[in-house]
Amino acid sequence: MERDVAPALNLICDGCRKPITDDDGYLWVNTTEVRRTEESVRAWEAERTDADGSLSFSGGDIFDYPEKVRWQAHHARCDPAPGARAYDIPAAKIRSWEQLLDWTAHLMEKSWLPHTDWDDCLRGVHQGGGRLVLAVEAGAPIS
Ligand SMILES: [Zn+2]
Repeated sequence: MERDVAPALNLICDGCRKPITDDDGYLWVNTTEVRRTEESVRAWEAERTDADGSLSFSGGDIFDYPEKVRWQAHHARCDPAPGARAYDIPAAKIRSWEQLLDWTAHLMEKSWLPHTDWDDCLRGVHQGGGRLVLAVEAGAPIS
């Protein structure tokens, strides 16, 4: 990979809260949980679908809507579920804004993406505090 400038983004480990540098970690989502959520959403909709095929629900029903599956960031050594079925993005491949955009475009092709919190993952990257944060020396040339 091209490395004439420092990476713009840092993935922060959910386990030890330290940045994941290059090849020792990933951003991942548990695909077993995603499938389960997909099924729950289908059931939720089926329960509220009228005979004519239209969906009708009250405001309170929203609270029963299945929770999105969280994207997690971990060093390989901090991964609490190393054997889990997962879709993962290696930390080294999500270090620039361009890569983040490309991943987002790629993930948008997945029918299961809306059942994950990718939106929350993107939200506020530029403000810090999330799983993906701005690298301190973004854009600085590597000496
Ligand atoms: Zn860690």
